[in-house]
Amino acid sequence: MRAVRFTEFNTFPTIEEIERPVPGPGEVLLKIAGAGACHSDVAIFNDFTAEMPGNIHPSFTLGHENSGWIEELGPGVTGFTKGDAYLVYGPIGCGRCVACSRGQDTYCENAADVGYLATGIGRDGGMAEYMTVPARNLVPLGDADPVAAAPLADAGLTPYHAIKLGMHHLIGGGKTVLVIGLGGLGLVGVQMLKAMSAATVIATDMKEDAMARARDFGAVTVEGGEGQAERIRELTGGRGVDAVFDFVGATPTIELAQQTIAQRGGIFVVGIAGGPVTWSFFTNPYEATITNTYWGTIEDLYEVVGLYRDGHITPDVTRYPMDQALEAYQELVDGKISGRAVVMP
Ligand code: NAD
Ligand code: ZN
Repeated sequence: MRAVRFTEFNTFPTIEEIERPVPGPGEVLLKIAGAGACHSDVAIFNDFTAEMPGNIHPSFTLGHENSGWIEELGPGVTGFTKGDAYLVYGPIGCGRCVACSRGQDTYCENAADVGYLATGIGRDGGMAEYMTVPARNLVPLGDADPVAAAPLADAGLTPYHAIKLGMHHLIGGGKTVLVIGLGGLGLVGVQMLKAMSAATVIATDMKEDAMARARDFGAVTVEGGEGQAERIRELTGGRGVDAVFDFVGATPTIELAQQTIAQRGGIFVVGIAGGPVTWSFFTNPYEATITNTYWGTIEDLYEVVGLYRDGHITPDVTRYPMDQALEAYQELVDGKISGRAVVMP
């Protein structure tokens, strides 16, 4: 079968012919419906090194936003029907630590022993015709379109986890929230905020078409440039925003968050651009907090699928056949994708 492979650090992926995998005990073989191309993949093949945390080593099949149909059951697996559609919870922890016990494999205490972080991150992912996955990582999609659902596994789950963590800032009337970066994650994040809170959603991106899409989903947009922080503050009556979700994480975007956050507000950095910022007693409004979040729990993913199946969120998806998977990644590198590219192996 064909697979999109990460073969070496600082090297663009290639399409290779590999053996179809066999599901081990407790696993299923999934016939892939869709595999989303996430900006984190670009970080993996362009920026990561062997020294990065997470124990990620080439080579493996990319794709950590996967959906598919049950093809085969591994030893000991029952209760699944061939052809049923599932979304894949990507992270895989040790399964026996405190973090894993609450369904938060992302923060597994024994991640270094597992040998990979997730399907598509260290272990073979879904940019291939078939993928094996532990049965416990499957979330049922019912009759929902699995291709459109694929990005929910990360572009949905990651903003959802951050937003739920920050929800207490947005309960009640007259609240405002700022979303920075309106790509795969940010555009789903805007829809979730509209569905889950009464807050005014303010959104920004360097690309006008991304901001236009956010307006379609009910956000008020503020373009970048001189005076941006002041223009955002004006929209809040001068008080500042109650929460910021930064889906870029570069120095200028975190600084924008610091300049616009209200007293007691919360800044959630989700983008992994890794920009450092300064913090001192005098730089941030009183009791404003800043934190980072990584992906989400499997329970969160069930709730994300609930939002999707109830019609509250729809990922903006462009579909690519397998032989254009590398073009999809190149367009993502070049900033030419709007919403999410989904490869259909
Ligand atoms: P994407 O490429 O689809 O979208 C990024 C958007 O940010 C683009 O629309 C781009 O124009 C915009 N942008 C870039 N720099 C900007 C700036 N300085 N100001 C305003 N807008 C800017 O990326 P994505 O797949 O949505 O991922 C977003 C980020 O989140 C990436 O850094 C990715 O690696 C990260 N990520 C983090 C997690 C996590 O668990 N923390 C999970 C998935 C992705
Ligand atoms: Zn664990």
